[in-house]
Amino acid sequence: MQSHLIRLVLCALCALPLAARAAPSAVKRAAVASVDQHAADLTDLSDKIWGYAETALREHKSSKVLADYAEQQGFTVTRGVSGMPTAFIATFGNGRPVIAIMGEYDALPGVSQKAIAEKSPLVEGAAGHGCGHNLFGAASLGAALAIKEQIAAGKLKGTIVFYGTPAEEAVGGKTYMARDGVFNGVDVMFAWHPGDESMADAVTSQAMVDLMVEFKGQAAHAASDPWNGRSALDGAMLFAQGVEMMREHMKPSSRVHYVIPDGGDVPNVIPEHAKVWIWARDQKRTEVDDLYARIRKIAEGAALMTGTQAVVKLQGGDWEQLLNEPGAKLIDANLRWIGTPTYTADEDAFAKQIQAATNVPAVGMERKIRALDDQEPEGGSTDVGDVSWVVPTLTLTVVTSPKAAPWHAWPVVATGGMSIGHKGLIVASKTLAATMVDLYENPKALREVRADFEKKRGDAVFKAYLPDGQPPLPNE
Ligand SMILES: [Zn+2]
Repeated sequence: MQSHLIRLVLCALCALPLAARAAPSAVKRAAVASVDQHAADLTDLSDKIWGYAETALREHKSSKVLADYAEQQGFTVTRGVSGMPTAFIATFGNGRPVIAIMGEYDALPGVSQKAIAEKSPLVEGAAGHGCGHNLFGAASLGAALAIKEQIAAGKLKGTIVFYGTPAEEAVGGKTYMARDGVFNGVDVMFAWHPGDESMADAVTSQAMVDLMVEFKGQAAHAASDPWNGRSALDGAMLFAQGVEMMREHMKPSSRVHYVIPDGGDVPNVIPEHAKVWIWARDQKRTEVDDLYARIRKIAEGAALMTGTQAVVKLQGGDWEQLLNEPGAKLIDANLRWIGTPTYTADEDAFAKQIQAATNVPAVGMERKIRALDDQEPEGGSTDVGDVSWVVPTLTLTVVTSPKAAPWHAWPVVATGGMSIGHKGLIVASKTLAATMVDLYENPKALREVRADFEKKRGDAVFKAYLPDGQPPLPNE
């Protein structure tokens, strides 16, 4: 019985990668202690960005506080990358390995909220951090700083890079950076994301393509000479109908959604112009490519039937995230070592009040870490996916908001601006730093991560779903 038990314990240990199985090294402990030393600074950075709440490519103050802090801490900072003034790169150290981490800091329009447990905008109609990117940027920089200090102390050899990656919520800053080769030369990339539970990510995001289908017709009086007109709206409606007919014949994993942002001006003029804005997604980019080709055909058909012209414009998109199994195991082991946040009764009450207000079970904060083999595929896309096809990318989710409460909405803004979010930030920063230490200290772990990447990527060559040219900067 006893030997059976010992065998079971040994087997359980075998499932862990070598680097994570050993007791945490002195350097790993030092890196985690560094996050604690800088916790007040990191929280302050996060709160500042939370307050700025700047949307995609307008993150001037948010990127500046992060870049300035990195510079003060001894990183070499390059501001303005891939045509985006709010993108930056902070580097420290020399030579291989080159371990890097990405930080986001863009907010979402219209979700302004105070850091309180009831819906109450800070500024009516303004933007807010409804995806927790204030925490994302600060925690990632904290992990980079922890590694920088170990390199500076001569305890680790190599380079650490922090990439300030703007505009995740619109445009996709990382996609432009990946297209431009900004991540070339990086051995392993890290990222994390706030969530309502914690896990080393073991399921992929969705690939997607973002298209604007523009119809051009001919205007005429809708009552006196309609025969002279060709309705662009007719083209748009038949196009939409064609997409609905396609819907039954897609893979169950595929998603297509659209809006009609332009359907003409007034009823008594045959619409000369109309637009359908459509996104197609799947867990595999190859399926998205197939949907993209079919959407083009449907647009052609709709134009043919209505005597109009259709132009399908590629606006953007993402590849699905290429998962890395050895990397996920390393993160999982470190996350379990660090542990999820401990909450006070007040914090749980705060979470429960939000849950009650948003009609989800009032269970408070989630403490559990989700196992690698117990994760649901996600219904969303991210430009982290693009990066993952260029460089092995290891990602983490850490709890920062009440279980099951609406995302991209006021509850995430509320908890992201107070202690619940701050605690998640610190756990994320420590877990990321600890996992990076594994890769610096253990060349075998690094090789395994790289080998898994090469094998899964196969002969796929990353090509961004992007129009030619620079990112569309907002008129400010
Ligand atoms: Zn996000």
